[in-house]
Amino acid sequence: MATTREGAGPVGAEPLLVAEDIRKHYDVGAHQVLKAVDGVSFEIYRGESVGLAGESGCGKSTCARCVLGLTQLTDGVVRFKGEDIAGLRGADLMAFRKDAQMVFQDPYASLDPRMTVADIVAEGIDVHGLAKGRAERTELIYRYLRMVGLTEEQAGRFPHEFSGGQRQRVGIARAMAVDPSLLVLDEPISALDVSIQAQIVNLLEDLRDERELSMLFISHDLSMLRYISDRVIVMYLGVVVESAATEELYEHAAHPYTQALLASVPIPDPAAERARVAGGTKLTGEVASPIDLPRGCRFAGRCPRATERCRTEEPALREIAPGHLAACHLVS
Ligand code: ADP
Ligand code: MG
Repeated sequence: MATTREGAGPVGAEPLLVAEDIRKHYDVGAHQVLKAVDGVSFEIYRGESVGLAGESGCGKSTCARCVLGLTQLTDGVVRFKGEDIAGLRGADLMAFRKDAQMVFQDPYASLDPRMTVADIVAEGIDVHGLAKGRAERTELIYRYLRMVGLTEEQAGRFPHEFSGGQRQRVGIARAMAVDPSLLVLDEPISALDVSIQAQIVNLLEDLRDERELSMLFISHDLSMLRYISDRVIVMYLGVVVESAATEELYEHAAHPYTQALLASVPIPDPAAERARVAGGTKLTGEVASPIDLPRGCRFAGRCPRATERCRTEEPALREIAPGHLAACHLVS
């Protein structure tokens, strides 16, 4: 597992998940198309934890739905364990549904209020027939409650009896209970009190280190991704603008958008401070509409360094250092 910590993945290993030039366009009427995801490629290796960053509206959740097969792609392919997930049927589809789990942002909305915590955690165990009988089912429920820092005594309670942080622990236990190989977490701490966020990040760090688990950890907050990700991908308006191993990205952020995200980090962070010194300017303005995309670089309208070329020619994503990709005309 240690070999995957370098970012590019172990040499010769098959990635667990591959997204190949995926697109998700929405027809929004009046012959207009909203390009939520517009040609994104990445892979996730076994045991690797990948962060997906970008402001609200950049296409992160749409990417999550695409890789989990929850929405039909407009174009491109998602492969899981080598298989195109669009072609999965029957038992193969069930196996994929078990193997790739999702943890949602809102622990209030994602747990059924009429179900006990035990039944919520056992949802996947029941659907996939993972327990042989009552006793094993209960044993599994207890095991996963303990794994996320909850107790057996809490199994019979209902979601409303729990705090936000505890509910998110229940959501994580539910996902972990089917022993997945991939966990996709979409803003798992954004709805929680700041005081609780670090506890959930610690829990996720423990899961990452203790299991051969791959994670796609989505957040608008780059500072949070630093603690949990081996590699970070930064999206802007439907495309990847930068990606690198975590330390490389935080120490040598190359794209003005990544630099601006780091400069906008609210909490003191030495790497963010260095990025600021290195030239990052805080973000101004808002994410443009993915309906009327600009002709050149999608970030040009907000980029303090944009040139005429940036406004007319879309920059390609290219390798600027080993394992470090950026899409910017200004980076040499
Ligand atoms: P993020 O998770 O980064 O905030 P999303 O993936 O949720 O971004 O959204 C990306 C863009 O796609 C946004 O402009 C959003 O409004 C749009 N979008 C998402 N889902 C739909 C949908 N079902 N129909 C039309 N537009 C959508
Ligand atoms: Mg989202």
